[in-house]
Amino acid sequence: MNVSIIAVGTELLFGQTVNTNATYISNQLNLMGFNVMYHHVVGDNPGRLKELIKSTFTDNDIIIFTGGLGPTQDDLTKEIVAEAMGVELYFDERCYAEIKSYFDDRNRIMPENNRKQAYIPVGAEVFHNEAGTAPAFGIEKDGKCAICLPGPPREMKWLFNNCVTDYLKKFSSKEMYYRVIRTIGIGESDLETKLLPVINNQVDPTVATYAKEGECTLRVASQRETEAEAQLAVDNMVSEIEKLVGNYIYSFDDEELSEVVVKQLKEKELKLSSAESCTGGLFASCITDVPGASSVFSYGFVTYSAAAKSEILDVDIEVIENHSVVSAEVAVLMAKGAQNAANSDISVSVTGYAGPEADPGRDNGNAYIGYSCSERFGEKCGYVEINTKRSDRKWNRNYFKLRMLLVVYEILNGKLS
Ligand code: ATP
Ligand code: MG
Repeated sequence: MNVSIIAVGTELLFGQTVNTNATYISNQLNLMGFNVMYHHVVGDNPGRLKELIKSTFTDNDIIIFTGGLGPTQDDLTKEIVAEAMGVELYFDERCYAEIKSYFDDRNRIMPENNRKQAYIPVGAEVFHNEAGTAPAFGIEKDGKCAICLPGPPREMKWLFNNCVTDYLKKFSSKEMYYRVIRTIGIGESDLETKLLPVINNQVDPTVATYAKEGECTLRVASQRETEAEAQLAVDNMVSEIEKLVGNYIYSFDDEELSEVVVKQLKEKELKLSSAESCTGGLFASCITDVPGASSVFSYGFVTYSAAAKSEILDVDIEVIENHSVVSAEVAVLMAKGAQNAANSDISVSVTGYAGPEADPGRDNGNAYIGYSCSERFGEKCGYVEINTKRSDRKWNRNYFKLRMLLVVYEILNGKLS
């Protein structure tokens, strides 16, 4: 089944609103096994919307619309879709009662123009909206199907998850199963090259790679007659993938690296601490984003200046002067200082240049991740040097944070010598 998405709204064309609805719907459709052919954006213009519907239906079975279901004059999606499908609108008493009670429940008087929302194309299946006032609907005619959803993402998502997924099931005869594998420490093209034996000639399961800010994700999906068959096919493929790139995999269940790290620290009853310079607390923040982090994370120092590194973490000022504040020596002393203060099993640190200014002698993207471990890990300490060669401050800081997580993960899994 070919599906396209038409987002209606002049503000989308102006760039004032990002078309997140299309991204969300596409993602969900993909998981359900539909082919998403096109994303279109059109302004609140009846003529252009009509033309677009006509041309889109020539090679699509289903169109999902978002936006323009509101009560105002410029909200015209429903009217144009009904016209394109060749049906009239009728006044739906139940929809009207629901809209009215939406206002009554909030002690508000319903504006007269909200009546407009109770008109529904004849023959449509109404999706009753519990997240707002606009009723949404799906309508089928002559082998074509139109689904209209409101623009506000919260309402759209509620309707999609509670009504549209069930409605769409009749168009898909197969069951879908997928798993998402997360990898780190390997670029997307290297990953693809290593996976060529399984990616080449793939029909089902399919293996798709996505690169995302220093990480690579693999989605293994299968569509079969039953979910059990699809699951078996995916699990077999995941085993093949593990044989080829198992070293780079940190999750087989789409977990964040921070979640995996916290989970493993908990299982092993270990404490973690950190000392950050250029990441300004990003590492501590992502660890404490994970529920239950309090049982494994004790101290997160942000020591931005050289004086703070010396005063709080006991980094010898002479070492800073002799080796520069961005150096392996300072990174290791920061990690040791944090470990001593926190009495933790693993401590990780970072000092680096995030950019964007490139002062002489500075290498933007250059950073040192230091680590220091308790006797449970043989009291080892060391560092990892990074050079991203990039000047994008945000990207660098995020990447450094990720590499700190990776260092902790590698220590926990005996992968860091
Ligand atoms: P309303 O009843 O609010 O008028 P509507 O169904 O008529 O709902 P629009 O008027 O097109 O929808 O959009 C309402 C709001 O929803 C927009 O201001 C925008 O913030 C958001 N929105 C609309 N379309 C999208 C989209 N494609 N992606 C993300 N947000 C969107
Ligand atoms: Mg509107």
